[in-house]
Amino acid sequence: MSFLEHSLEHELSAPEHSLQLDTGVRLEFLDTGILRVRPLSGGHYRVLISCGIHGNETAPMEMVDQLFAEIKSGELAVNNELLFIIGNPPAANKAKRFVDENLNRLFSGKHQGSTTQEAARARRIEQVTSAYFAEGSEPRLHYDLHTAIRGSQFEKFAVYPYLHKRHWSTPQIGFLERCGLGAVLLSNQPSGTFSYFTSHQFGADAFTVELGKVEKFGDNDMTKFADAMQGLRGLVDASERFESEPRSIQVFEVVEEVIKRSDNFKLHFADDANNFTEFAKGAVLATDIDYEYKTQRDGERFVFPITNVPIGQRAMLVVAPTSI
Ligand SMILES: [Zn+2]
Repeated sequence: MSFLEHSLEHELSAPEHSLQLDTGVRLEFLDTGILRVRPLSGGHYRVLISCGIHGNETAPMEMVDQLFAEIKSGELAVNNELLFIIGNPPAANKAKRFVDENLNRLFSGKHQGSTTQEAARARRIEQVTSAYFAEGSEPRLHYDLHTAIRGSQFEKFAVYPYLHKRHWSTPQIGFLERCGLGAVLLSNQPSGTFSYFTSHQFGADAFTVELGKVEKFGDNDMTKFADAMQGLRGLVDASERFESEPRSIQVFEVVEEVIKRSDNFKLHFADDANNFTEFAKGAVLATDIDYEYKTQRDGERFVFPITNVPIGQRAMLVVAPTSI
């Protein structure tokens, strides 16, 4: 049975079991959707690849399942320490983004005080991830793979969590470019995402990676993910050593976090407009009671607009080009 099938079949929890492959690689199924893979001898990096934090984002789950199949058959050598996580199997079974609440806002302890299924899962994922990253001294890497409902001017892009005093890693951005990404967005503040959690708590080079559009299981055109799959294979067999600098990937910074202040909040562009749609200076993007966001310079773009959030929550980011 595949890792994905097994996780969907035991959606809430699964008994721990392990398996030694002929290659000497050890597979440890720690819980539903949580797989530890140990190389025969020590790895160069300690890698976490997560997917399905949003249950309807199927392509990344199919990619992880493909890596699992290649590892299991011995076709893909394992030379790094690996942890794979399928984030929200119950939501995946329902083909929904989440069951009760958005799992990717619950990390770094933001699950405290919540009794939802997602809060329990965030707690479990934090536990497993903490134990994993505490284990060894290899450089820590985390790629949290997503797809989106909204289209994007950049089909594939990454969100780089806020680093506080640490520096942005250009070799990491170079790697993301070779995975087929066209843009990276530098965050300017802490958040409840899984990638911010591993970045901030464990100093991991961590990213939320958006790989394209949401489709149903089985409907994904996997050729669109070929470069990203090659990149992930390089993380498994340790052929990836992060030695190249970025060339043409575009880098953006946040210039405004637009908060929904009241029920009068309104966005001034089409409901189905693509992420990273570009505007000239002076365009009105959002209005609310006593509030208006007008672009301050040419080249500003919006990302992740959403109007049906509770009052006080983020409704959109405005971003602009920057360099590192
Ligand atoms: Zn997502």
